[in-house]
Amino acid sequence: MADTIFALASAPGRAAVAVVRLSGPAARQALAALTGEAAAAGRGMRVRLLRRPEDGAVLDEALVLAFPGPGSYTGEDVVELQLHGGPAVVDGVTEALLALGLRLAAPGEFTRRAFENGRLDLSQAEAIGDLVDAETAAQRRQALAQLDGELARRHAGWREALVEALVVLEAAVDFPDEDLPADVAGAAAPLVASVGAEIAGALADGARGERVREGFRVALIGAPNAGKSSIFNKLAARDAAIVTPTPGTTRDVIEVAVNLAGYRVVVADTAGLREARSAVEAEGVRRAEAWSADADLRLLVVDATDRGDRWRGAARLARPGDICLINKRDLAPAPAASEPVAWAGAHGLTALDVAATAGLGLERLRAEITAVVVGALGGGEFPAATHERHRRDLGAALGHLRRAEAALSAPVEVELAAEDVRLAARCLARVSGRVDPEDVLDRVFARFCIGK
Ligand code: GDP
Repeated sequence: MADTIFALASAPGRAAVAVVRLSGPAARQALAALTGEAAAAGRGMRVRLLRRPEDGAVLDEALVLAFPGPGSYTGEDVVELQLHGGPAVVDGVTEALLALGLRLAAPGEFTRRAFENGRLDLSQAEAIGDLVDAETAAQRRQALAQLDGELARRHAGWREALVEALVVLEAAVDFPDEDLPADVAGAAAPLVASVGAEIAGALADGARGERVREGFRVALIGAPNAGKSSIFNKLAARDAAIVTPTPGTTRDVIEVAVNLAGYRVVVADTAGLREARSAVEAEGVRRAEAWSADADLRLLVVDATDRGDRWRGAARLARPGDICLINKRDLAPAPAASEPVAWAGAHGLTALDVAATAGLGLERLRAEITAVVVGALGGGEFPAATHERHRRDLGAALGHLRRAEAALSAPVEVELAAEDVRLAARCLARVSGRVDPEDVLDRVFARFCIGK
């Protein structure tokens, strides 16, 4: 039998209320030991004095909630103690629960139990974690939709189409003499091909689901002194916009997360791009280039006062759809810098005039970035992947479907096709954390009435 776990479910530190949650077969007895009452079976909420079992010392007056299994969050008996939020109260209750033989829960252990007891599938369990981590409205919306089963439904829809195909293929393999669709390939191939095409389309979504969760990545690139740091500071400085200032991951790339229209956006200030004069600088340039290559959007900063073509070094990293910031316009208004402006237009970049230190053009910049982010992440169907795990499984499923498609084109190899379709379906089932080949057999027999 599982042991009984407990943990502080609210944030540690001083607060109005602290919630300690217990789950497992001994949860009710533990509560009875603290209240001095007989263990009650029902669901309910009451106010009780909690006492240390060994000497009866009062630990707190608490609101006590009981959720009997299997209808609880974890599927086990759950007790929630809403304590006064002082550290001494929480410590006293923690010590009493340890003395009663309960164990402190490991991270995620309550949700793990919920999954193991069938209260949630794996994608929903992940969504709980995402919801707890959510800092912006878009992250919250995505996590709630996933918790509601949106992600699992997309994978399940594809999987069901593949099970249809398997029904045909398996029947042809196992019962070649039966009265079955004459052209097995003709019946199964379109299903396999259409699921393959849909998965390929979903995988080519610019990692929308992961970007919502982790942040849309914007890199500031440009020659040294172009004004990258000044622009970075302005973008980061609006207190209301800062979600989490992330400490620099390297000494050369500094990141800050901002909230734009409800989306988490990570802006990175990279090392100035130029011919490196030292090994250290070369490493900085390498990291800047790597960050820039991975970014979803690049802001190419050009110094309008710079008559030369130092801007071209970073410009080679820019891509169509990026934004070109002609900076220091306070010192060098148009027509200065007409060459990079023309270059930007010819290469599909939007050119914007800014003056970072004077704060000119920055609202427009913010609006442009927001439009790009909303265009990339907003709207559309629920993404088919919000975590790397989902993307990996989808990629593996697609590989099997491509092989099955090949096996279904002349010369048709039904067994090989069936095996790959079965493996693809299994990859899709992994999103829910349960792989259940029984239902494939069930459906074969149900549909063809072969056992008559
Ligand atoms: P970085 O090396 O690209 O990060 O450039 P910085 O942001 O450090 O800026 C280099 C210098 O240019 C600093 O002295 C800034 O104060 C100055 N600077 C940046 N933007 C502007 C601007 O729009 N107008 C003026 N006049 N000076 C600027």
